[in-house]
Amino acid sequence: MFSSADLKTRALELGFNLVGITPAQPSPYLDSYFRWVEAGMQGTMGYMARPDRQDRRRDLNVILPGVQSLVVVGLDYASAAIPDDVLHDPSRGRIAAYAWGLDYHDILTPRLEALANWLQTASGQQTNHRVYVDTGPLLERSHAYQAGLGFTGKNTMLIHPRRGSTFFLGEILTDLEFDTYDSPGKATLCGTCTRCLNACPTNAFPRPNVLDARRCISYLTIEHKSSIDTALRPLMGNWVYGCDVCQDVCPFQRFASPTHEVAFYPPNLDHIAPKLVDLLALDDATFHQRYYGSPIYRIKRERLVRNACVAAGNWGHTDAVLPLKHLLSDPSPLIRTHAAWSLRQIMGDDSRDFLQAHLLHETDSPVREEIQSLLESGS
Ligand code: SF4
Ligand code: SF4
Repeated sequence: MFSSADLKTRALELGFNLVGITPAQPSPYLDSYFRWVEAGMQGTMGYMARPDRQDRRRDLNVILPGVQSLVVVGLDYASAAIPDDVLHDPSRGRIAAYAWGLDYHDILTPRLEALANWLQTASGQQTNHRVYVDTGPLLERSHAYQAGLGFTGKNTMLIHPRRGSTFFLGEILTDLEFDTYDSPGKATLCGTCTRCLNACPTNAFPRPNVLDARRCISYLTIEHKSSIDTALRPLMGNWVYGCDVCQDVCPFQRFASPTHEVAFYPPNLDHIAPKLVDLLALDDATFHQRYYGSPIYRIKRERLVRNACVAAGNWGHTDAVLPLKHLLSDPSPLIRTHAAWSLRQIMGDDSRDFLQAHLLHETDSPVREEIQSLLESGS
C-alpha cells in the first residue's frame, strides 16, 4: 500500500491545487447519466452514448484491468477579472475563462503523467496507470466528488466550498492501493439558491442538476458542428466560445482565487473578448497564428466565425454589415448561412434586396433554404 500523504505532497509540489484519492468504483450517478443520454440531452456528442464508453463507465476494469484507485486532481484556471467596459461591450465576443490561455490538456496531461511515473518509482512496484483530462470515459465530476474535491452544484459543475468551480480536473487510474482514501463531503451546499438556473440565457436547465446540452451555449459554440437553431441564436448574446454565466453568478465563486499558472493567463484581449469585426474578418492563416495552442484552436476558423456571425446579429450594429456581406462569399456554407441570418437581424427589411440578389447565385441548398425562410419571415 502506498502512502496517500506522500502522493498528495508530490501532487501539490507539481503545482496541482487540489488532490483526492478514492477507491476505483463506478460512479454512483451512472443511472442518472444513462437517463440523460436516453433523453438525448448530449445532442450530437454521439461518443457519449457509445456502448463501449458506457461499458467502461460501468466497470473501470475495462479501462485498466486490476484498477484499485482513482487519484483526482484540480488545477485553478481563473486568471483575471475582465474590466467592466470590456465585459459590457457588445461589439466584442466573449470567450469562456477556461480558454483564455494555453490548452489545458497540454498543461495537465504531462503533469499527470509525471505524477503517475513518480508514483511508480516511489512505490518500488511495477504499476499500471491511465491518465485522463476530460477526454476519457469517466464521469469525472462524480469521481471528484467521491474523492472529496467538492459537491455538484445545481449548475452541474463541481464546486469546492472554498474555491468555487473554476478549476480543471484530471485523473489517474492506478492498480496501486493507498493506505487511506478520501471521503465525499456533503452532496450539496446549494440550499435554496437558484441563481444559476435563473441566469442561464438559453434555459438549458430543465431542472436542477440536469443540463440539456442541446440548449447550452458552451455546447452550441464548441461541440455543435452544424447550423445553430435559429430560435436559440438571439439568446446567445455575444458568447463566441463557451459561456461562464452559470458559474459567474454562483456565490461560491467569490472564493475563487487567481491561478498561479501563467499558461492560463491571456496573452492579450483577443483571447478574452476579441472585437467581432476582427473575428468576422479572420482568415485561416490569422486564425492559426492567433489561436494555435489555445483550446479555441480545436473548433477551427469555420465554427469561430459562425459563432461571431451570431454574436454580430445580436450586437445589431451596422459596423458588422460590411464584413458580413463579405462572408456571404465565404467557401463555407455554414458561415454563409449564419452571415445571412446576421444581416437580416441587423438590417431588417433593408437586407431583402441584398439577400435576394445573393440567392441568384447561391448554389448550396441549406443556405438557399435558410435565406428563403429569412425572407419569408419578415423582420
Ligand atoms: S454554460 Fe451558459 S448556456 Fe450553458 S448552462 Fe451555463 S449559463 Fe446556460
Ligand atoms: S448558483 Fe446557487 S444553485 Fe447554482 S450551483 Fe451555485 S450555489 Fe448552487
